[in-house]
Formats: sequence, structure tokens, C-alpha cells
Amino acid sequence: MTKTNNIPFMVIGGGIGGLAAALSIAKTGRPVQVLEQAPEFAEVGAGLQLAPNALAVLDKLGVLGTVMEKAVAPRRLVLMDAITGQEMTALDLGGAFLRRYGYPYIVTHRSDLLDALLAACRSHDLITLLNNKEALSVEDLGDRARVSCRDGSVYTADAVIGADGLWSRTRKLFVEDKAVCSHYVAYRGTIPISEIPEANLDDVVCWIGPNLHLVQYPVRRKELYNQVVVFRSYQYKEDSDDWGTTAELDERFSVCCPSVLNAVSFIHRQRRWPLYDRQPIHTWTEGRIALLGDSGHPMLQYLAQGACQALEDAFVLGEKLEAHGSQIQQAFMAYQQERAPRAAKVQQTARVFGDILHTEDNTAILLRNAILSQRKTDDYSVVDWLYGKFVPINQER
Ligand SMILES: Cc1cc2nc3c(=O)[nH]c(=O)nc-3n(C[C@H](O)[C@H](O)[C@H](O)COP(=O)(O)OP(=O)(O)OC[C@H]3O[C@@H](n4cnc5c(N)ncnc54)[C@H](O)[C@@H]3O)c2cc1C
Repeated sequence: MTKTNNIPFMVIGGGIGGLAAALSIAKTGRPVQVLEQAPEFAEVGAGLQLAPNALAVLDKLGVLGTVMEKAVAPRRLVLMDAITGQEMTALDLGGAFLRRYGYPYIVTHRSDLLDALLAACRSHDLITLLNNKEALSVEDLGDRARVSCRDGSVYTADAVIGADGLWSRTRKLFVEDKAVCSHYVAYRGTIPISEIPEANLDDVVCWIGPNLHLVQYPVRRKELYNQVVVFRSYQYKEDSDDWGTTAELDERFSVCCPSVLNAVSFIHRQRRWPLYDRQPIHTWTEGRIALLGDSGHPMLQYLAQGACQALEDAFVLGEKLEAHGSQIQQAFMAYQQERAPRAAKVQQTARVFGDILHTEDNTAILLRNAILSQRKTDDYSVVDWLYGKFVPINQER
């Protein structure tokens, strides 16, 4: 057994949340060590949408410039009817949006964002990154916390942040809950732009229909096209992987318009992602341990905010540590007080928004479409609460 002592801060999990947390903690002058179970720091999946609330954090962490080098700033977020092929509504992401929120809305490859965070962590003297370190247990010892890993190493630290994702072990210290399966499944991936000549390179396009949707946007300087198809499986079986199959994918999208059918023919089929969230919890910290990112608030992806909220967590954590000096528990309590209600609201709204997108009820579809057709493309009132977190909203258009 290897025993290591006197580490001020330990972060379990080196995903977007964990690396952003390490940067934010290091900015307060505290040494921090990240334990990642995988042999390398890497993101699975494809594209990521990042709203101004996330960009404000990336800016504060000093990585926005690097992220912007490869990111794409789309012109609009567009909702299309997947069955009729008609445009339903759009949100303009141009000048008025930028003036209102102070930052653009961008789309990026997940690994481009992770690489930017990783490079910043690697070049920071106070951050140590360790791979092949699967944390098996975390304990609060009162004046310290202890982390034991599968390889026999044991660490004690002044404080531990559990940024270990949807299947978090750290979360078990706070609640013995089960991840909630939505019965929806995603297939996703990127393809070279040259292989899909009819790709819309200007917008984030979301095609919606009963119990299904497709999202498309360019990433990596418009060199790659990202596509995600999502549908509710009618063959869901608990404790089985035999649902949401590629055969069901083709069958379910067969009712869609030609543009969607064409897109589905390009979709990566090697891996399926069953989609889960969890019920919000309001206790994220006890003693010297706190949760961050998906471990604290895993959410359905329908608002494209999971990573954005993890970034918000990271920034607020650093802010509270700065404010409370050596009083770590007080800093954690202040972090929880600010973050838990907001993250819970985003989790719950993501579920509702998914229901609105996917409804199969004809009356609801009629009402939804009527409301959407009336709204102006520069009406930002529905997203102000989400995108305007760190900047005073400039109401001038
Ligand atoms: C289809 C889909 C689309 C999405 N689109 C968007 C989007 O457009 N915008 C957006 O903001 N969000 C989006 N999200 C959500 C986003 O991907 C997540 O919220 C975000 O990645 C969470 O980051 P995290 O660091 O908290 O957790 P994770 O990314 O899960 O990272 C956890 C890390 O911890 C490590 N780990 C786990 N257990 C241990 C252990 N015991 N010991 C050591 N290491 C451990 C893991 O290997 C991993 O590296 C989407 C999600 C899905 C499924």
C-alpha cells in the first residue's frame, strides 16, 4: 500500500468538471491533485454546445482563447419539424445575443475542450495529474479526507472534490439513489465535412418529432460535422442492453422527412448511449468532501447544459474558497448553497424541455407549434435565466 499525505486538494475524476475544478482551485493558490481512473485523459462522445454561462467560466479560467481557436460560433439555434421538414423557430446568436450575454454561443469537439483544460492544468505548477487511479472509497476523517484507490494507494487530503460523473462513487456518501433511465438512447459521432456535402455549416439544427430528435452542427473549425440522434425505445427492458438497437433506430426514423433520413444514414452506429439522469439532491457536501458536475447533478442533455453547469460549479467553488480562506467547510457550504438550487432547476427544466420536444400528443403538438411560430428570433426571455448567469444582462437589442 502506498500512502501519500499532505495533499491540500484532491479531485476525483479528470473530465471537463474535474479539470475545470482543478484549475479553479489552483487559481486560489492551493495545490491540487487529480485522480483519473482511465489511462489517459480523454472524452468519449462527439460535439458539445457551450452557452455564454460556460464561456464566462472558461474566460475566468484563462482557457477561452485556446477553446475559441477550434470552436465554431453558429449563427442560429434552429428547431425544425423532423416529419414535415418545416422550420419551427430559431434563436438568433448574432450581435444582439452577444451584446446581451457578453459571450457567444459556441459548438466544439469535446476533446478540443478537454485538451484546452488539460494543457492549462499541465502548465500550472500547483496541479498534479495522475492516471490509472480509480478511487474505490472516500472517507471524511473530520480534519481531513481519505481516498483509497484500486491500485492500493491511499491519499489523505485537506479536502476532496468528487467529480466522478453520473456513476459517481463519491455521491454514495450523500445518497443511495439510482440513476433514472429515460428509456431514450443516443447514437452520435462526427464525420468529415467533405463526406456530407449538404451539411448546414451555419447553424445548430435540432429536428424534433414524436419521441425522437436529431441534432446537427459543425465542429473543429467546420472540418467535422457532429450528429446526434436520440429516440425513445419502445423495447426498453430493465437490466438489458437489448433495446434502443440500430434496427429500432432505423424503424423509428423511417417516418421522418428526407433531410433527416439522409442524416441518419451517416450516423455512427458502433456505440449506443442509454440516457440517464438522477433526481436533484440538495446536499452536495459534508465535512471535507463535495460533489461537482455530473456526480452532483446528472441531467438529460436537452438544454445542452450538463458540461456548462459543471463549469459553473468549478468557478463558484474557486470563488467560495477564495472568500473563506482556510475555512474549507464553510466554503463548501457556501458553494452548495449557491449551486444546488440552480443545478436542480436546470435538471428539472431539462426533463420538461425534453417532454415538450418529444411530445406525441396531438393537442400538445398543436399548441407548442402555435406558440413557437409566434416567437421572434431575438426573443431571449426564455434563456436569460440560463445563459445570463455571470454577466448583467444587457437588455438593449
Ligand atoms: C448525448 C449527450 C449530449 C450532451 N451534450 C451536451 C452539450 O451540448 N452541452 C453540455 O454542456 N453538456 C452536454 N452533455 C452533458 C455533458 O456531457 C456532461 O454533463 C459532462 O460531460 C459532465 O462532466 P463531468 O466532468 O462532471 O463528468 P464526466 O464527463 O462523466 O467525467 C467523470 C470523470 O471521472 C472519471 N471517474 C469516474 N469514476 C472514477 C473513479 N472512481 N476514480 C477516478 N476517476 C473516475 C471518469 O473516467 C471521467 O473521466 C451531453 C450529454 C450527453 C449524454
